[in-house]
Amino acid sequence: MVNSLLYSHLYRWYEANRRILPWRETEDPYCIWLSEVILQQTRVVQGMEYYLRFVSRWRTVEELAAADEAEVLREWQGLGYYSRARNLHKAAQTVVANGWTPFPRTWDDIRALPGIGDYTAGAIASFAYNLPYPAMDGNVYRVVARLLDIDEPFDTTAGKKLFHREIEQLLDRSNPRLFNSAIMEFGALCCTPVLGDNCLTCPLSDVCLAHANGTAELLPVRKPRPKLKDRWLDYHIYVQRTKDNGQWTINTLLRRRENPKDIWYHLYEFPCEELPDDPTAEGGLTAKRSYSASGLTAKQSNSEAVCEFVHVLSHRRLHARFFVHRVKQLPTLPGTFPVAWAELDVYALSRLTLRALDSVSP
Ligand code: SF4
Repeated sequence: MVNSLLYSHLYRWYEANRRILPWRETEDPYCIWLSEVILQQTRVVQGMEYYLRFVSRWRTVEELAAADEAEVLREWQGLGYYSRARNLHKAAQTVVANGWTPFPRTWDDIRALPGIGDYTAGAIASFAYNLPYPAMDGNVYRVVARLLDIDEPFDTTAGKKLFHREIEQLLDRSNPRLFNSAIMEFGALCCTPVLGDNCLTCPLSDVCLAHANGTAELLPVRKPRPKLKDRWLDYHIYVQRTKDNGQWTINTLLRRRENPKDIWYHLYEFPCEELPDDPTAEGGLTAKRSYSASGLTAKQSNSEAVCEFVHVLSHRRLHARFFVHRVKQLPTLPGTFPVAWAELDVYALSRLTLRALDSVSP
């Protein structure tokens, strides 16, 4: 392919079609980094709200480094993949500790920060400093697979190397910022997963091998996905009403997840017990089933099954059931602590817990 032809078609399309996104209108590496981390696995509309909140609350990497991890997790609540928020905070502290403020300037230093892979390092290096590194996100893998008609899976080690070699050949070294912005936007808006009639009006159709060979809809190829592992979880929402000086207060129990390998590490949730197998074989969503897990007997608790969800993560399918137990006294359960219901929003709660709260009226 003649690169100059690709650049002229691509850049003309980009000038006419690009979205105005705040992180594409700045060369501030801190803002670009925040946007790239927030936008991983997140739609632009949802990511925009979080991005604007983060940059207004923590205006510099120093301010973010000085925040409590709990505050960062609380601000991240609802975005999922909380390890990204923990790494964001750790990376800010690394930048400050190493004296790299306002932000590292070389690809190697950027790549060495927690939570930053090749893609994010390339995006920051090119968008902030116009350094000649590619930024291969899912959109770019798709465009490259189709332009060059590559039917190797792009998500294997060998596939990544192959695609990386190809994008190095395509990269516009005279303006990597423009090239990366344009090809990413082109993948997001024109060379989309489901193509419809897009190829008919595509400005790159003349240089696209998959279009010429009729294979565009089949690309890119992924490696087979691993089977999801099922887990069954019973959550117990204790509700205690107390009256003090004529005022009613509602209390409950929370616990913090303490396993550093856990995706919800340091997030808060209701007490939970993992069941060894599928409890629905025993009659589905029943409060009775949960008494043993709650530490209560039927007489002690006025219990009710309130909701159940299947929550899918990258490698796990969680079958979660939530039970409300109305009690006179909160039980003593290891690792839990009492919280006023009105203060639940002070804690960073897992998305699953937030979903359940929509169904619970204490
Ligand atoms: S012709 Fe179709 S497959 Fe090829 S780059 Fe354009 S939109 Fe993508």
